[in-house]
Amino acid sequence: MKRTLSVLGSSGSIGRQTLKVAEACGHDVAAITVNRSVELAEDQVRRFRPRLAVAADEEAAAALRIRLADTGVKVLSGREGLLEAAALPEADTVVAAIVGVAGLLPTLTAIDCGKRVALANKETLVCAGELVMARAGERGAEIVPVDSEHSAIFQCLQGCQSRGEVRRLIITASGGPFYGKSCKELSLVKKEQALRHPNWSMGAKITIDSATLMNKGLEFIEAMRLYSMPPERIQIVVHRESIVHSLVEFADGAILAQLGSADMCLPIQYALTWPERTPGPAKPLDLLSCPPLTFQAPDTETFRCLRLALECADRGGTSTAVLNGANEAAVALFLEDKISFLDIARLVEAALDRVPVKDNPGLNDIFEADRAAREAVYQSVR
Ligand code: NAD
Ligand code: MG
Repeated sequence: MKRTLSVLGSSGSIGRQTLKVAEACGHDVAAITVNRSVELAEDQVRRFRPRLAVAADEEAAAALRIRLADTGVKVLSGREGLLEAAALPEADTVVAAIVGVAGLLPTLTAIDCGKRVALANKETLVCAGELVMARAGERGAEIVPVDSEHSAIFQCLQGCQSRGEVRRLIITASGGPFYGKSCKELSLVKKEQALRHPNWSMGAKITIDSATLMNKGLEFIEAMRLYSMPPERIQIVVHRESIVHSLVEFADGAILAQLGSADMCLPIQYALTWPERTPGPAKPLDLLSCPPLTFQAPDTETFRCLRLALECADRGGTSTAVLNGANEAAVALFLEDKISFLDIARLVEAALDRVPVKDNPGLNDIFEADRAAREAVYQSVR
C-alpha cells in the first residue's frame, strides 16, 4: 500500500533512510522536519516536494524559507511547526525519528490525530510509555516499531492470538564497541572510539548509548511498554553478530526469531507497509556467508547504565523519565568532551538518587522529571 509520510527528523540517520525507502517503494512525502540542517532540508524538499518543511530552530527556518522561496513549499519553525507536521491532514503515517524527549509531543500529536506512527523515537516510550500506549489505544492510532529489535519482535508476533501465548521476549544486543572490556579499560576510552559502532551506522546519541549499553536498557523499557510485558518476561542476550534481531518464546517453548542484515531500511519499510510486505532497498542476508551465531549474558556490572535502566524498569513511575533525561544530558556533555565515558553512568546514577519518583505520572510530571534530571546532571558537573 502506498503511504503518505510526514518524516519527523528527516535529516537524521533514520530520517534519511526513511526517505530512501520512500523513494524506492514509491511512498509520498508530505512533510519533513529538521532541527538545524538547512542545506539537507533544501535538498530533501527539492527531491520529494513535500507540502511542508519545518526547521525547529528559528534561524534555520528563516534561512530555509529564503532558500525555498521559489518552490512555494510552506516553511515553519519551532514546536508549533513540529506539531503541525505531526498533524498534517495529508499524511496518513508519521515517522517519529526525532532523537530524545524532544520527540514526545510531536509523537503524541500524531497519535491524537489517529495517524499510523512508525516509531523510532524510543525515548518517547521510555519517558511516557504507559501514557502514550493508552492514548494510542483510545484514538485507534497504530504504533508500529522501527527499532530493529522491536520490529523483530513485532514480526514474530504476527499471527499470535493473545499475549497469554507469549512466554518471553528475547532482545538481542550487539554488545557495542567495548564488549568484554573491564571498568579500568572503560575509564580510558575516548569519544572517537565510542562513536565507532561495530555493526550499525547511527546518530551520535544512540551510538554512545550503544557503547554504554544504555541503549539496551532503553530498549528493555521500550519493549515493556510496546508489548505490555512485565520485566521478568523480557531477557537481554548479547549477540555479537547482529544477525538475529530479536526473538519471541511462546508458551509451548517454540522460539521464533527474525534474521536479516544490519540494515534499518527493512524495519523502517515494514513499519510503513505492515501487515503487507513489499520489495525494498534493504540488503539481503546471505546465510552461507554468515559467521556462527553466538549468544551470551550481558555484563551489567561493568556496564552500569544497563543495570540502572533495569532498576528503573522495575521501579516504574517517573524513574524512567529521570533515567532518560539524565542520560541525554550526560551524553551531550560527553560529546562536548566535558566528561569521561564512565561519568555518564555516574551522573545518571546521581540524578536517580536525587530526583524523587512519582507514580502514575501525567505529562507534566514527566516533563518535570526530565527537567529535574537534567538539572541534577548539570549541578553535579558544575
Ligand atoms: P540522528 O541524531 O541521526 O537524527 C536525529 C533527528 O532529530 C535529526 O533529524 C535532528 O534534526 C532531529 N532533532 C534533534 N533534536 C531536535 C529537536 N530538539 N527538535 C527537533 N528535531 C530535533 O538520530 P537517529 O540515529 O536517526 O535516531 C533517531 C531516533 O531513532 C532516536 O530516538 C534513536 O534512538 C532511534 N533509533 C535509531 C536507530 C538508527 O539506526 N539510527 C535505530 C533504532 C532506533
Ligand atoms: Mg535497537
